[in-house]
Amino acid sequence: MRTVGSVLLTLSLAASVQGQAELETYVISLTIPDTGTVIQGSAAVVFFRRVYDTLRLDLVKMQVDTVWRVEYNIHEGRLRTPVPYRYDGRVITVPADIRGISSLEIQYHGAPGDGLIIGSNSYGRRVVFADNWPERARYWIPTFDHPVDKASVTFNIRVQTSLISPSLSWRVVSNGKSRRFFWSESHRIPTYTMVFGAGEFSVSEHRPAIDGRDTIPIEVWTYREDSVYADSVPFRRATEIVEVMQRLIGPFPYENLKHVESSTKFGGMENSSAIFYAEKPYVERRMGEGVVRHETAHQWFGDAVTERDWPHLWLSEGFATYFDGVIGAALDGDSVLVNSMRANAAAYFKSVVTDRPIVDSGYAADPIKLLNANSYPKGAWVLHMLRGTIGDSAFFRGLRTYYTTYRDSTATSEDFQRVIEKEARTNLGWFFHQWLYQPGYPQLDVTWQYDAGARKVVLGITQRQKPEWGLFRLPALTLEFRVANGATVRRDVAVSGDNRETSVRVDLPFAPAEVRVDPDGKLLLRVTAIGRR
Ligand SMILES: [Zn+2]
Repeated sequence: MRTVGSVLLTLSLAASVQGQAELETYVISLTIPDTGTVIQGSAAVVFFRRVYDTLRLDLVKMQVDTVWRVEYNIHEGRLRTPVPYRYDGRVITVPADIRGISSLEIQYHGAPGDGLIIGSNSYGRRVVFADNWPERARYWIPTFDHPVDKASVTFNIRVQTSLISPSLSWRVVSNGKSRRFFWSESHRIPTYTMVFGAGEFSVSEHRPAIDGRDTIPIEVWTYREDSVYADSVPFRRATEIVEVMQRLIGPFPYENLKHVESSTKFGGMENSSAIFYAEKPYVERRMGEGVVRHETAHQWFGDAVTERDWPHLWLSEGFATYFDGVIGAALDGDSVLVNSMRANAAAYFKSVVTDRPIVDSGYAADPIKLLNANSYPKGAWVLHMLRGTIGDSAFFRGLRTYYTTYRDSTATSEDFQRVIEKEARTNLGWFFHQWLYQPGYPQLDVTWQYDAGARKVVLGITQRQKPEWGLFRLPALTLEFRVANGATVRRDVAVSGDNRETSVRVDLPFAPAEVRVDPDGKLLLRVTAIGRR
């Protein structure tokens, strides 16, 4: 997702790691009122071949009317029996004895306190949008509301209509494919991306064949006032963006892709196959393509391959941030990535999270705090430096394998490391340790002196960062030596991660006038001082 600066989120977040991967699918039927905010819902939670003692479903501040157990028996067909349950306003607890394919069906109603936003859009028309990240699906649908529990989902959204209702012209958009009144996503997706939107929309199709190949259906859903703008500015290259990701990583993970103007509180929210964008930048005609690249990249990383728990959020946000620049470079040239990495470094250096590592278990119960410069720009830098360390071919091969292996499932940073190490055929423990589990970044003082007799430059490199950040190993730090006439020579040197001081001697046939460190900005580091010894 892309955050917007002014967002204030007041959420009470209860961590509820269930680890119940046997969950198959949700079938959710909702009736949306044409006035007010009270919804009527029925949710079937379908399981597969597993016996449980107790089932706990997250559902916050709704009225639960009935809970049934539904079993499918070869002889008797579908059997629905009411079951006893407890509901404390946050969790429905059901003593369950579930065998074979069976489901729980929960009938409920109420005005969602969050997660499903029923209100007016910028043009004063009534709209309804779900906005679930990180654990807000539970405010309007009973779920195992944690990314570890991915499932397929079907929505059946009915909009109440009255004679004077505007809702006759409403359309509903959701995950997956639509058939009559149903939207179904057959792939397992995280609950934080299970959404629908309802209101009046203009829908346009973007599906040019590129290089003779057909792409997946792509639609742009907007309020009618913004339709022409959206098609011609931010989504002009919606198809090309998908094509670049397919070429670099692998097939688009879902059946289609909808880009939806919405009331999400995030700048953009990567809901699986139905990305929701904040409406304000459309209305003010200041929406860029970067957010489209970022959210589209999330369909592969975040949606198809989901972080198994919140401390691994960089597997989603760091990837989407990096691929914003990578897609931009593929479409418009390398300088897009160079500039984007420079901006990412600047954002990270001035952030308040440099004393914390990227994989930050201290925030596991409070994922909102992980929407920070570690998960986004530093996460992007980890990928950029990994690519620099193992080379383009191993890097993209690794990403493709990682995507294929964990698609429709979840992964941790360790899973990612394992795949990359296998593809690169090298141990990268030192790399992942220092960049994911250590805080900070290297700050280097560099002194140099030319030994004319030996025709060598003698360099002293000192890691000046706080001791709490630890030391960093830099196996290939590029140094550029400039002579007085302007000619330059480059040499790579290795900086030790074992000692604060590294001294190296570099062959150089002339006395340099100037020395530059990491001239192409390949590493996330700062040079705090440089000069002649
Ligand atoms: Zn994102």
